Amino acid sequence: TDQDNLIDGKAFAADVRQRVAAHVTRLKQDRITPGLAVVLVGEDPASEVYVRNKGIQTREVGMNSYEHKLPADTTQDALMALIGRLNADADVHGILVQLPLPDHLDAEAVLNAIDPGKDVDGFHILNVGLLATGQKAMVPCTPLGCLMMLRDRLGDLSGLNAVIVGRSNIVGKPMAQLLLRDSCTVTIAHSRTRDLAGVCRQADILVAAVGRPRMIPGDWVKPGATVIDVGINRIEDGGRTRLVGDVDFASARAVAGAITPVPGGVGPMTIACLLANTLTACCRAAGLPEPE
Ligand code: NDP
Repeated sequence: TDQDNLIDGKAFAADVRQRVAAHVTRLKQDRITPGLAVVLVGEDPASEVYVRNKGIQTREVGMNSYEHKLPADTTQDALMALIGRLNADADVHGILVQLPLPDHLDAEAVLNAIDPGKDVDGFHILNVGLLATGQKAMVPCTPLGCLMMLRDRLGDLSGLNAVIVGRSNIVGKPMAQLLLRDSCTVTIAHSRTRDLAGVCRQADILVAAVGRPRMIPGDWVKPGATVIDVGINRIEDGGRTRLVGDVDFASARAVAGAITPVPGGVGPMTIACLLANTLTACCRAAGLPEPE
């Protein structure tokens, strides 16, 4: 039927949050409350929305949310000092620095200053290296959410051709590592890729993480393929702004075996995975068994 090939990220995320909340309830009986600190520097409107949603959802699953909003002219030293305090704070199990940071700040230095055990975004070089070498890492939230939806839809991913369009450190590269770990044959495409259409047409799993509205049309999608659209693009449409993905949803849905919508696909799963990572970090810190 019509709804069959839609992957409902919103419902999937609600399910993940419910499982996290149940676990948090049990931890609280042992007087442990997981805490997530979110640091926002400056006044980027999109970032403010993300940070607000993260705070709301963190509290909804019963965790403590610590929000640190710093002015746009915050110095590197002041930001590093805050990270140091959060690293030392036993009530804080997860630390997230909202990106992008203002240009005058060194984002790499800030991310690498976070205690790797509290690095719930998985961007610290130690976690990147652990993931790349197949060791127990904190896995970046967006690709983790994509992987969960793919496994749910397809079961065993072994041997499938996966094409990821985009090679960023926060989405494309960790997505490639995760799919490789699940024994896909992985191709990473980017702005210099030749015959991108032809490359995409080989994909059993097509992940779009580019940031260009509707750049992937339906005729780049192999019939029956599973399409994961990470892109979040604001476009003007009849005087109103709305969100679209990197994939042309209508034409892609007509050929795809399954596809995530924008909004309501990868986005909600990203925040749910952030909460799951915070729970994991808390359990590890307390020496308790980790949730599934
Ligand atoms: P980046 O800008 O860091 O990376 C974009 C990638 O796309 C680059 O590797 C770039 O290639 C590639 N690219 C750009 N133009 C083309 C092209 N014409 N053909 C092929 N490849 C191209 O973006 P992010 O990875 O941070 O984010 C990607 C998208 O995902 C954005 O829309 C972002 O808003 C969204 N996003 C959504 C999240 C969610 O929760 N749903 C979370 C994070 C991001 P090159 O390296 O050669 O320049």
